[in-house]
Amino acid sequence: MKRLSAFAYIVLAVMLIIVAVPLAAPLGAPLASPPPASRAARSVAPTVQAPPPTARAFAPAVPRVRPIPRRTPKLVVILVVDQMRADYVEKFGQHWTAGLRHLMDEGAWFREAAYPFMTTVTCVGHSTIVTGSLPRTHGIVGNDLFDREAGKAANCVADSEKTLVSYGEPAKGTGTSTKNLRVPTLGDELRAQLGVPPRIVSLSLKDYTATTMAGRRADAVVWMNLTAKTLMTSSAYTSAPLPFIAGFLKAHPIEADFGKTWSRLLPESTYLYADDAEGERTPGKWTRTFPHVLKGAVEQPDADFYSVWDESPFSDAFLGQMAEASIDALKLGQGPSIDYLAISFSALDLVGHDYGPRSHEVQDVLARLDRTLESLLAHLDRSVGRDNYVLALTGDHGVSPVPEQMAALGLNGGRVLTTELTARIDKALEPFLGPGKKVLRNAYEDWFFERGVYDKLRANSEAMRAALEAARSMPGIARVFSADELRDAHGTSDDLLERAALANFFPSRSGDFIVIPRPYYQFASSAARTSGTTHGSPYWYDRRVPVFLMGQGIKKGQYLAPVTPLDIAPTLAFLCGITLPAADGRILNEVLVGTNAEGSVLTQRGRFLR
Ligand SMILES: [Zn+2]
Repeated sequence: MKRLSAFAYIVLAVMLIIVAVPLAAPLGAPLASPPPASRAARSVAPTVQAPPPTARAFAPAVPRVRPIPRRTPKLVVILVVDQMRADYVEKFGQHWTAGLRHLMDEGAWFREAAYPFMTTVTCVGHSTIVTGSLPRTHGIVGNDLFDREAGKAANCVADSEKTLVSYGEPAKGTGTSTKNLRVPTLGDELRAQLGVPPRIVSLSLKDYTATTMAGRRADAVVWMNLTAKTLMTSSAYTSAPLPFIAGFLKAHPIEADFGKTWSRLLPESTYLYADDAEGERTPGKWTRTFPHVLKGAVEQPDADFYSVWDESPFSDAFLGQMAEASIDALKLGQGPSIDYLAISFSALDLVGHDYGPRSHEVQDVLARLDRTLESLLAHLDRSVGRDNYVLALTGDHGVSPVPEQMAALGLNGGRVLTTELTARIDKALEPFLGPGKKVLRNAYEDWFFERGVYDKLRANSEAMRAALEAARSMPGIARVFSADELRDAHGTSDDLLERAALANFFPSRSGDFIVIPRPYYQFASSAARTSGTTHGSPYWYDRRVPVFLMGQGIKKGQYLAPVTPLDIAPTLAFLCGITLPAADGRILNEVLVGTNAEGSVLTQRGRFLR
């Protein structure tokens, strides 16, 4: 008996070293902006008795095992609906009758949730949701991260030391990991802090959402690769396809949807606005009006078919079914630990970019997601038990109205040509630096100069002023900050745009200039771009998203306190009896069963956030 328990301790110690080492290494690396001392202190898990620094390096690993408290959930589910705006629930929710309706009626519904930062895009939003921290803390400031040394940008999850693992033909391209994420995810912390390792599953149609939601290690991370026309994962998670995912794909071939028609689920009269509206962009052979046939240019499943399939409710349904298969295969929520399932539904984002937030297509994706979620919730109830899981649903960002539709309504709105802004800055700098190209690239609000140019501006205040003035006087531009101005700011300003820019600011990765368009204006790289829309701004339509919590430990009701999606992970962590090392969000104590606190306490962090 004695020998057995000693052996068990050794096994656990080895497991913990395996878990702790990859986590500790990147997190221990110096950050471009060092976190405050209090944050560093909080990064020690509460169960660890920290020995003095010298002893720590040589002491044998102490198993950080503790029993899981009885009333923790057995499964945590995070659902992200890509590009879901808060007002979608308010405007279209009356027609939902299934899964989304269940969340509205039986969950805690935060109606005043909004991201507090500027660059409201997918990788930033997902990183924020699963870490509970701001971009200035987690370091993911865009969908692409620009490497100044290399002079090039790469996908936020690209990792050249990893390879793709395909569920079809072998795939070329770089693998993925969360090496760029400077803080651990909720899944990482469950793995590190629970005595019994959790099962971690993350599914999406996009590589960066599936990877980000998982974290450093996971049991299944799967996304759709349109080029390879099959499911994909990364060698960060597995060296070979997982048999249960391969089996699922075989049983649910995507080609089976070829030739199917996407038409309205509900009577046409229930949809707001016009189906055929100015500025709607149409993918492939699709038109601005229903119905849409899932076909490419030819009579077989070509790349165009996969692309429109991706942009249809059929892909969300597929993802929901794959999640159900994963619950069964890995017995999620049925083991001794607290398992973790994250799903990011991507169809709404693709449809929203093309057809815009007022389209019948967006409304129909949501009406059908309502059904997909009903099936998933029923499956969770059956497999895990309604009282055994806790679920969160939110959006990673919203979306701007189509500028041409705003202009048609008599509101100011339009597209700011990046080439024009670049030319203005180049011209303004000519007297100081001579002719030639000064601006290297822009991604949303982050503008980068050619190598060495920004240093010259810092050394010459007149040149700096001229460049800033050139950008600020461009029609459609609201604000321009230099990186130095943000470096010197403190985040306590009442200026919302400055606070939003600062919450997004990670010096080694953010732009030399931060250029924020006016409301309803967006950057366009070419004058030909006069349809479709995007997100990424600090305005309400991009920042406001729904936040729902439901299940074990959660009091249902509508909550009007101003909260942020950063509060989701700390709240879920608290319910699981663990802590997050670098959360900027707060525990939503007002929804916890057994508390009657009012919540919304404005802490120092709260002041920065809200
Ligand atoms: Zn997104």
